[in-house]
Amino acid sequence: MAKIIMKTPLVEIDGDEMTRVLWDVIKEKLLFPFIELKTEYYDLGLVNRDSTNDEITVKSAEAIKRLGVGVKCATITANSARQKEYNLKTLLPSPNATIRAILDGTVFRKPIQVSRIKPSVNTWKAPIVIGRHAYGDVYKAAEMEIDSPGKVELLYTKTDGTQSKVLVADFKGRGIVQGMHNLDESIKSFARACFLYAIAEKIPLWFATKDTISKIYDGRFKDIFNEIYETEFMEKCKEAGIEYFYTLIDDAVARVVKGEGGFIWACKNYDGDVQSDMIASAAGSLAMMTSVLVSPSGVFEYEAAHGTVQQHYYRFKKGEKTSTNPAALIFAWSGALSKRAELDNTPELADFAKRLEKAVLGAIEDGTMTGDLARLSYPPPEKILNSWDFIDAVASHL
Ligand code: NAP
Ligand code: MG
Repeated sequence: MAKIIMKTPLVEIDGDEMTRVLWDVIKEKLLFPFIELKTEYYDLGLVNRDSTNDEITVKSAEAIKRLGVGVKCATITANSARQKEYNLKTLLPSPNATIRAILDGTVFRKPIQVSRIKPSVNTWKAPIVIGRHAYGDVYKAAEMEIDSPGKVELLYTKTDGTQSKVLVADFKGRGIVQGMHNLDESIKSFARACFLYAIAEKIPLWFATKDTISKIYDGRFKDIFNEIYETEFMEKCKEAGIEYFYTLIDDAVARVVKGEGGFIWACKNYDGDVQSDMIASAAGSLAMMTSVLVSPSGVFEYEAAHGTVQQHYYRFKKGEKTSTNPAALIFAWSGALSKRAELDNTPELADFAKRLEKAVLGAIEDGTMTGDLARLSYPPPEKILNSWDFIDAVASHL
């Protein structure tokens, strides 16, 4: 069989631990035999990020800007324990935060649904897609420790030199303080990305903040969504037969758990971080959650929503063939290949991406699956496989 040719390379971003191990197996068993794979490779493994002073992370984001589509493995966000473990020079920032700050945009997370896995919320009939704003707020905040009594104020100096300030707190003792921001332009592109996604998928759009408490900050998010809806999308939503619904974040959480699903839930950055793990776990497994960053400049980055599966990696290093689920990692590749095909107009590649996803679903529907899904499967699985055997099962479906 002749291999499928790619026109433009994908930006391939390698990562850490168990997902790095599986990354190579996926390429070897599911991609190389079928595609003349063209990628521009960036090694974002923690050691390489440290030795390049994180320049490699910035370069990978710039490559996505240039080439249009990236696929990323999970990466360790360093903390002091990791600094010791990997003997690092410095505590590097989260690579995802760095990449998202450069590309801006919105992260859409959608569970991969299979009929054998029933969501733990039994009213859910269709997937809930999380649209997570990927810029600013607590992810780009300035923080300070307050070690003795004193006033903390927010001071805004305009470029013309005029100033205004507000009191944050009058500290009587030790404490902590944080200053965060967002940008109208980024919130607008977040809103546009969510409306475009909702219209394309023909599913309603929900948005929620805490504007009753945060009248200026969250209030601005609410107002911008409303303005973008009224000026740009009201007619298109009507045509698509979908509605835009705004409510308070606590009300939204209650409605999500009582509802039927089948909508996109636009979340501010932190809400999206938390709620996407809730949705993923309730829909089945974190290993079945896909993730794509849609940038307003029209570029895309695909990844799995889960992390590097650290505990499995330690068992792997001791010699165990772990039953880590590669489904979301494979869907990161299929998503990226499919978008590449769309941009390059290469239907063979688009077709391959579809078949790859079908092969994963087919293997699971046949009752061959990894341990995380076996616990949830009804009827129970025929076979619980380790990652390598599961990828072989996908390859034989393919
Ligand atoms: P994690 O890698 O998401 O794993 C948490 C737990 O979820 C695992 O212990 C496992 O549960 C289950 N799980 C996740 N993915 C799975 C899969 N594919 N197959 C089977 N089970 C899966 O989170 P973590 O262990 O807390 O974080 C590890 C590292 O990942 C951290 O250094 C963090 O910084 C990084 N991280 C990176 C990203 C990213 O790059 N996008 C995202 C999140 C976290 P059981 O142990 O019960 O089997
Ligand atoms: Mg998270």
